[in-house]
Amino acid sequence: MAERLGFIGLGIMGYPMAAHLLEHHPVKVYNRSVEKAERLAAKGAKLAYSPRQVTEASDIIFVMVSDDQALKSVMEGKDGVISAMSPGQIIVDHSTVSVRLTEALGARVAEKGGHWCDAPVTGGDVGAQNATLTIMVGSESESYRRIEPYLTLMGKLVMHVGPTGKGQALKVVSNLVSALNLMAAAEGIRLGLEAGLSLDALEAVMTHGTARSFEVTKIVDRVRQHDFNPGFSVANRLKDLDLALALADSLGFAAPLGASAQALFAAHKALGFQTQDESSYVLRWPERHD
Ligand code: NAP
Repeated sequence: MAERLGFIGLGIMGYPMAAHLLEHHPVKVYNRSVEKAERLAAKGAKLAYSPRQVTEASDIIFVMVSDDQALKSVMEGKDGVISAMSPGQIIVDHSTVSVRLTEALGARVAEKGGHWCDAPVTGGDVGAQNATLTIMVGSESESYRRIEPYLTLMGKLVMHVGPTGKGQALKVVSNLVSALNLMAAAEGIRLGLEAGLSLDALEAVMTHGTARSFEVTKIVDRVRQHDFNPGFSVANRLKDLDLALALADSLGFAAPLGASAQALFAAHKALGFQTQDESSYVLRWPERHD
């Protein structure tokens, strides 16, 4: 029998992910600001007005919210998921949140007879729109078997990486590296422009030589279009750096590049860039018109 699906959190990532599930299955959806859920309901989703209503109507509940606080709110708040859970249900958490909260919520859900799968994603807003995300899952094997067919509707590479918590650990490590790549790309490209090189020349060489990365391409594209509307916000990027440093700290592991990146990104956010795309970091060097 087909599983009944629910989806909570229809932001930049969650909306297109839920829409891909909806192309193949009925989905009950909830979003804190109801307009986004209504927009998906107009395309055939069933509308819920609380996480509890989603939980009452679903066997598998996908969640994609901002951070630890948002996840706690939808899981543990009044009319939250946990208030309505019954044995056998699976929570699939796609948000990027701390390993510590993941393990704590996993234990609470297990007390209710449910199962927790942390399933954070990488690939950006474009990956969510094109169903080409990479999805890394921490869970028991049996839960993974049940959710895998649905994950493949949203992602291209779907991988079981270990027990609960290991999906988030991998995501945090991966995001530390992409943050450092992004900041390196921004610094190098702005230095190149200062040195009188054209963006076309920088792009041609840097996207083919050893400097190439997803983030070099992103910075070049954003500078060319002067478009810093969020795909991935400065607030979310800083949150992920905080998560990486918290993980390092919990293990007594020194991460000096991560610590520098965190301080630089916090300063960028404080300048008013919180809701802008992470690539706006390239604007920390004011353009010279002399
Ligand atoms: P977003 O557009 O800001 O969406 C955040 C979602 O969380 C919205 O549905 C928002 O509801 C909800 N939310 C926030 N606080 C809440 C609360 N207290 N209670 C209930 N719902 C709350 O962010 P996003 O870019 O989709 O990112 C979502 C997650 O994916 C983050 O953990 C991010 O790090 C991760 N991620 C993002 C990308 C990317 O490129 N964007 C890539 C990989 C992973 P409202 O609509 O009411 O505000």
